[in-house]
Amino acid sequence: MYPLQLENGRYISIQRQLYPDLIAAHLKGFITIGAYALDRESIAKWVCLDADDQLRWHKLIDLAQKLTGQGITAYLEPSRRGGHLWLFTPPLSGTDARRFGKQLLTDHKLDKLRIELYPKQDKLVTGPGSFVRLPLGKHRLTNKYYPFITIDGLPLKSPTAATPSIRDQIKVLTNPVRIPKDFIDDLIARSPLPKTHSPTPKFEATPSPEVTKPKKPTKKRRERYDSKPSERIKASMSVQEFVSQYMELNDQLRGHCPFHEDQINSFSINPDHNFWHCFACERGGSIIDFWMLWRKKAGEDYSFKATITELAQKLLK
Ligand SMILES: [Zn+2]
Repeated sequence: MYPLQLENGRYISIQRQLYPDLIAAHLKGFITIGAYALDRESIAKWVCLDADDQLRWHKLIDLAQKLTGQGITAYLEPSRRGGHLWLFTPPLSGTDARRFGKQLLTDHKLDKLRIELYPKQDKLVTGPGSFVRLPLGKHRLTNKYYPFITIDGLPLKSPTAATPSIRDQIKVLTNPVRIPKDFIDDLIARSPLPKTHSPTPKFEATPSPEVTKPKKPTKKRRERYDSKPSERIKASMSVQEFVSQYMELNDQLRGHCPFHEDQINSFSINPDHNFWHCFACERGGSIIDFWMLWRKKAGEDYSFKATITELAQKLLK
């Protein structure tokens, strides 16, 4: 499974295995793919800080410089508007990767700057979570490559290479210098514990009209209603928890609607009433409504039945 960038810069998730020839195709610029920050077991092997504009990007370059002074290697990759700072780590749980990243931002007074931290999830629940464009490929929107640079702004190259080249950078990044475990442990020890997630709130299922029809629901009807897979799916996880595995939501729980060409954050979640809504394309509803449209977008059977079947497998164990 991997994210594929479309010509408009957006990504879709491809539910197929990622083969090495696809990575080669990415490096050659035929396609552009993303890299998920967590694996199936919610383990991270890198932390990426994402600066959205030049101001923040220069802060990240400063950070890389300070880290270099401490003997820590950070990799700088410019991007369309700002850039990414990559820190390769020994395998860490998503929680530890995020505690490390957050504490690093706090230590360098960058925590209030809206620099994004990947991975975005402590732990995966259903979906693959957050991703970053896999480096050294072509950005579909700008048709440009963004090779890595040094803190002086020169193209990154290995000490043995005569001239910088993408081929050489691939070699450098295949075997990156990882952050020493002691350094990470020290930051984690100073970082606040993540808020303990209260168990997924169970949502009071509102009786559907067929149950509250004039006839008083019989005991049998109630039982049937309680065991309805669609209701159990909706009660198994909040809309916010589910949706955030598949798309990015900001602090206000808004994001780019995945179901129409969205340049602004038209998509939002209402956590109190547990539904999502896009004010532009006017779609919205429950986890099931979201997943039906998701399947439709992926070209899959998006009938109610097929959607419920897949969600039941994902959520009802
Ligand atoms: Zn929409």
